[in-house]
Amino acid sequence: MKGLLCSLVTIVILALPVGLTTELISVYGPDALARNASSDLREQYLSRQQLTRKLVSDRQISPSSIDDWEWQALRSLNEPLPLELPYAEQWLLFGSETQVITFDISATQNRILEITSDRQPTAQGGMFVEIFEPMGERHRVVATSNPTDTHLRWPVSRTGTYRIRVQSLPGSVGAFALTLDEQFAFEFPVATDSPKPVQSFFGMPRDGGRREHHGIDIFAPRHTPVVAATDGYIARVATSTRGGLHIWQRGSDEYGNPIGSLYYAHLEDTHVSAGTWVNRGTQIGTVGNSGNAISTPPHLHFGLYQRSAGPQDPLPWTGLARQATLTIPNGHRWPAWVSIARESVNVRTGPGTEYAVETTIDGGELVALQAATSGWLRVRTGSGVSGFLADTLVDPPTPQPITLQGPTQVQASPDPSSPILIELVSGTVAARLGRFGNARLVQTESGLQGWIIDPVAITSDERPS
Ligand SMILES: [Zn+2]
Repeated sequence: MKGLLCSLVTIVILALPVGLTTELISVYGPDALARNASSDLREQYLSRQQLTRKLVSDRQISPSSIDDWEWQALRSLNEPLPLELPYAEQWLLFGSETQVITFDISATQNRILEITSDRQPTAQGGMFVEIFEPMGERHRVVATSNPTDTHLRWPVSRTGTYRIRVQSLPGSVGAFALTLDEQFAFEFPVATDSPKPVQSFFGMPRDGGRREHHGIDIFAPRHTPVVAATDGYIARVATSTRGGLHIWQRGSDEYGNPIGSLYYAHLEDTHVSAGTWVNRGTQIGTVGNSGNAISTPPHLHFGLYQRSAGPQDPLPWTGLARQATLTIPNGHRWPAWVSIARESVNVRTGPGTEYAVETTIDGGELVALQAATSGWLRVRTGSGVSGFLADTLVDPPTPQPITLQGPTQVQASPDPSSPILIELVSGTVAARLGRFGNARLVQTESGLQGWIIDPVAITSDERPS
């Protein structure tokens, strides 16, 4: 841990140089990941060892701090918090220490795990994100983010639990938006926010059982935009008795690999012509009820045909409805330390009362604020537990006057090895802001904040605890 005063200095010294991006992505991972991954993924891969070496050679981390950085990362990996996707939180970094958190999430095969760590305009530094796959008792890294790149997209190779570790780079300061989401391979092809737009499924009988429904029907008001589910060329725009006004698209995934032919039918009108390339999400037409849907309410019939396998159920690719956009909670006004405002408060493993209670903390105790998510804060307690508590249960620390009973050292952080900021003489009047583990946060009359760690220096009007 570095001190509060040091943090102001580290902000300036450790700000990432602009040229770091290109230097970092030129270092490729040599291990199993590189052998398994597509070339696109390989370019994203940077091992922890490579990152640490880079940080040392660029003087972003002092050789004496490496053990701490690595130890924190290792400890966090073995204390994961379980989370439901999608999830968003705002990180609050104060530059005085590196933050690291590990989440356990469930992900589904053929979907895309997307982790973003957007730096807010005034923030400096970055985050290092690693995705681990369980291998028996151990965990194997399957993807990492370039710390200067805010986006990590990873196609989920098999359904299961994955462990995601996020660590701030040394000296990072300010607010960062972290989002974890699992995306469907296709953009939902109708721009409707209806919670249940798919009303007719793949394989249902048609024409009195003479054929099966080779697609899904997505109901929405006439003229609702129909968007391209993937990138790809428009192969045909035509009219037929069954499909009415329809579009065929040759779909390809984000790496340019062919996925199959996409069929959009019963359109009201079209916005593209054959031979043009469209990007995923581009409007190609609108919902109607042309063709044999003339007597049913407007809907998009959406089909997927693969050359080798024939008609496929598109539902696992699209999901049942359009994915909601994650809203990033705004927690940047909180101070680094907050005080428990109730007699006692539960710290839980996740942001909701349905999550297990990890520990209970008493009123007046301080917790280190790490991140804010909707209605909840992610904190670290004085006993070293990371977890969530409702944001209505904390207040900014309130000063209580105290008189020092002996010469007292004030340190930069609750860590006993942190630098000494000032030595105060016996009888000094100061303000006590709260307790964190065995340490007390105090503020001197000149406004300096720091920590009294030595328990024998406890002050006159504080009851023994
Ligand atoms: Zn249909």
